[in-house]
Amino acid sequence: MLAENLNHIRGEIAQAAKRSGRTPDQIRIIAVTKTVDVEQVRAAAALGLHEFGENRFQEARDKVNALPGLTWHFIGHLQSNKVRDVINSFSLIHSLDRLSLAEAIQRWGERLDRHVSVLVQVNVSGEDSKYGVDPEGLPDFLAVLRDFDRIRVEGLMTMAPWVDDPEAVRPVFRRLRQLRDAGGGGAELSMGMTNDYAVAIEEGATMVRIGSALFGKRRG
Ligand SMILES: *Cc1c(COP(=O)(O)O)cnc(C)c1O
Repeated sequence: MLAENLNHIRGEIAQAAKRSGRTPDQIRIIAVTKTVDVEQVRAAAALGLHEFGENRFQEARDKVNALPGLTWHFIGHLQSNKVRDVINSFSLIHSLDRLSLAEAIQRWGERLDRHVSVLVQVNVSGEDSKYGVDPEGLPDFLAVLRDFDRIRVEGLMTMAPWVDDPEAVRPVFRRLRQLRDAGGGGAELSMGMTNDYAVAIEEGATMVRIGSALFGKRRG
């Protein structure tokens, strides 16, 4: 089941990459393992996946400790009091969305004598329920981040609204790409989930965060 799902996804990625004039190796699958148990994660790793995403530190901790050889991405809303734990276990934070969080990351980067790789989350769709910097405020935010010498901005991330037809969110992905192309915020584009990753790739995604298409529908 998992192997079949992954084959299907790889096929879709290859086709979408081709439509955008790229090759599949330019698009990384971040396997989202929230609610998925350690054994399933191990099985996914055995199939050749090696980058995994979790959105809550508490839930991720046991999996990260059980499978330390994997690369973990923090994709959820990050509270400042969890920064230390997260930078100890995760390679990339996809959700830098405010100045106070940048300050906490910088502080812990100094204390632990480390650099921390991040993506800036942008609320392209403007939904109240979504975290992220406003597109209009992004250039200023990126300019401020240049003074944070422990933070490496690798790119941008967004969450598109949930819609039946993924074509409806193409403008969201296109806008994130334009913001990336405007410069100052790294090259990566983390966008696209189960419902809309093919469209996100056509619009330039370099990382797609895929959960249910791989592991099946989540309960609750
Ligand atoms: C859960 C989650 C995903 C994956 O969602 P699916 O629709 O199951 O692929 C991607 N990104 C974030 C931030 C998530 O919380």
